[in-house]
Amino acid sequence: MTDLYRVLPEEMDALVIKLGQPRYRADQLLHALYQESPKKISDLHQIPSAMQDALVAAGYTIGPKSEVHRVTSEDGHTTKLLLKFDEETLIEMVLMQYRSSKEDGHPRSTVCVSTQVGCPMGCVFCATGQMGFEKNLKAEEIVAQVLYFTQILRQRGEHVTNLVFMGMGEPLANYDETVRAVRLLTHPRAFGLGQRSITISTVGVISGIDKLADEDIQVKLAISLHAPNDVLRKKLVPTAGPNSVEDLILAAKRYFKKTGRRVTFEYALIDGMNDSNKVATELAQLLKGNGAHVNLIPMNPTAGGFSRPARKRVLAFQQILRDGGVNCTIRVEKGSEISAACGQLRTDVIKNITR
Ligand code: SAH
Ligand code: SF4
Repeated sequence: MTDLYRVLPEEMDALVIKLGQPRYRADQLLHALYQESPKKISDLHQIPSAMQDALVAAGYTIGPKSEVHRVTSEDGHTTKLLLKFDEETLIEMVLMQYRSSKEDGHPRSTVCVSTQVGCPMGCVFCATGQMGFEKNLKAEEIVAQVLYFTQILRQRGEHVTNLVFMGMGEPLANYDETVRAVRLLTHPRAFGLGQRSITISTVGVISGIDKLADEDIQVKLAISLHAPNDVLRKKLVPTAGPNSVEDLILAAKRYFKKTGRRVTFEYALIDGMNDSNKVATELAQLLKGNGAHVNLIPMNPTAGGFSRPARKRVLAFQQILRDGGVNCTIRVEKGSEISAACGQLRTDVIKNITR
C-alpha cells in the first residue's frame, strides 16, 4: 500500500500516466489532497470513479488518522493534539499562535511536528527522550500533522504560516522521510509553504546536517547545543558519542558556507547544570566571531528531576553572551501549562490516561 500523501508531484505525473490518464489528472489529485480534506480515495470527487478504482487496484490509499485528545491553553494560543495513525503510532503535535503586529490581524501560526514516536537520543531533560524510541514516522504521517491543523485553521479563515521540526523525535535520525515531507509541504503543486518558513531542529546528527546542506531545499537549521564542552554535553545528551562540540560548530560553519543561512544554536538552560557564569563565558568564547545566534530555552519541567533557573540567572547568562559579542535571545514560552512546550511531549503518559 502507498499513501497518496507521500507521492511527490513528479511521481504523481508518472503515476497518472501509468494509469493511462492525462497529466492534468495529477494536478486535480494534488489539488484535492492539499486543498480539500479527503479521508478516502472515494472522496476524490474530481476524479472519475474508474480512475479511483484504478488507484485502489494499484495499491494506493489514504491512511486513517484520528484525533484522540486535544488541549488548549487558557489564552487559546496553544493547542496540543494527540493524533493516532494506528495502534503503534500515536503522536503529539502543537499549534502555537502569535498575534501579528500587522493591521490585518492574521496571527502567525506555527505548527510543531513530530518525526518519530519517542526518540533514540535520550537527552536527560527531555520527556520524549525519557520514553525511549518506538518508531520512525513516515512522510505522510508528518504531512498529516500539518494538514490536520490546516483544516482547523481554515474554518477560522487562517492558515499555517510556519513549521518547526521540534516535536517528538530527532528529524535527522529519520532523514529520508523528513526530507520527503519537507518537499511535499513546500512544493508549489502540493502544500506550497515557503521553504524559509521551516526550521529543522537537530541534536547534532552531523552526517544529516551535511546532507541537508546539499539538498535543494532552503530550510533553516537549529542545532541543540546545550553545553560549550564535551564533558558537560555528554551528561545532557548521552548519545552525543563521537560527535564533539567542536564537530558541531564545524558542521554549522559548513552549513552556512554552503547555504548562506546561519544556524541557530538552541540551549536548554537547566538549573545548576549548564547555567553558571563560567559556562556562559566559555560558550561566548566558543561562539564569538561566528555570527552565531543562540536561543536560550529555560528548561520546561519533565519527569527527569531537573528544573529551570530563576529568571535572574537566565538574564545574567544572556548578558554574558551579549557582552561576549554573541547574538542571544530567550525563547518566548508557549503552552507549558498544557505540557506542550519544548521537551514535554510524551505520549506514553497520555496513552495511560486515555485507555
Ligand atoms: N530532536 C531535536 C528536535 C526536537 S526537540 C532536537 O533535539 O533538537 C526540540 C527542542 O526542544 C530542542 O532544542 C530540545 O533541546 C528542546 N528541549 C527538549 N526538552 C526540553 C525541556 N524539557 N525544556 C526545554 N527545552 C527542551
Ligand atoms: Fe530526542 Fe531532541 Fe528530546 Fe534529545 S531533545 S531526546 S534529540 S527529541
